[in-house]
Parts: sequence; structure tokens; C-alpha cells
Amino acid sequence: MIYSVLIIEDDEGIQTYLKELLLDNGYNVMTASDGITGLKIIKKSVPDLVLLDLGLPDMSGESVCAQIKKDVPDLRIIMLTARDTPHDIIQGLNLGADDYLTKPYATKELIARIRLHCAVMRSRKLWPTRLLISETWQFIRIAMKYVSVMKSWI
Ligand code: CA
Repeated sequence: MIYSVLIIEDDEGIQTYLKELLLDNGYNVMTASDGITGLKIIKKSVPDLVLLDLGLPDMSGESVCAQIKKDVPDLRIIMLTARDTPHDIIQGLNLGADDYLTKPYATKELIARIRLHCAVMRSRKLWPTRLLISETWQFIRIAMKYVSVMKSWI
């Protein structure tokens, strides 16, 4: 299963690094260098996960996060930032970020967290299908019971 990740990061070096890291690990990657572009991309094609830098040129990462959660509440967001005080982390999580990693982060930890969040996102997307299957199965069982009752009458 191929997951898609949107990187919203204005630092070209970091953006390229993250993009290559994710491509190497088998992800589809979309990139945006500012918040407005990032939000436009999400409206066109919803990714499984967003990696969001807090220090963006056009709007704050906090407002981007809040807007994403308004547009697509289920979309998972990992905030990546150099701000690492407990106050910053709590604020990020309060805004609806699902995770928070402070720079410099260990590559392996980042990949492990990305994998986890993508899997959660996908299992949520699959949930309605699973529900439908279990309902169909229940219907078949009831129908079979009905048939066997009918047979006993004949
Ligand atoms: Ca930045």
C-alpha cells in the first residue's frame, strides 16, 4: 500500500531532504513551500499525512494546521519545528496536530511516526467498507436462517 505525504516546508534544504527520505521509503510525496499552496493541494488531492513546518512565509503553521483540521478533520498532521518548549508543543497539539517533532529529529523516529500515522489514517478510511462487509454478512446469515425455516414448513 502506497501512502501519500504532503510536506509543507519553506526551507528548500529541509524540504528536499524530507522528500528524498520519503521517496526512498516508498511514499508518494507532494510538496508546498507555503501555507496557501499547501491548503490548495489538500483541496485537490487529500494526502494520508501532512508534515507541517511551523515557520512559514505567508501564514503561520498554526493557522495552516487549524485550517486543515477545519477542511479535512481526519487528516493527520505531524508538526516539525525548531520550537521545543513544552508551551509550544502543547499549543501545537491543542491546535489539532496529531504529533509534534522538534528539529533536529532522528530520521528513524520520523519514519516510524509517519508509518504509524499513515496506518491509522488508512484504517479509518477503510472502516466504512468493513462495516458494509459485516452488515452484508449479517444479512446473508439472516437470509439463510429464513430459507431454512421456509424449508421446514414445506
Ligand atoms: Ca520554516
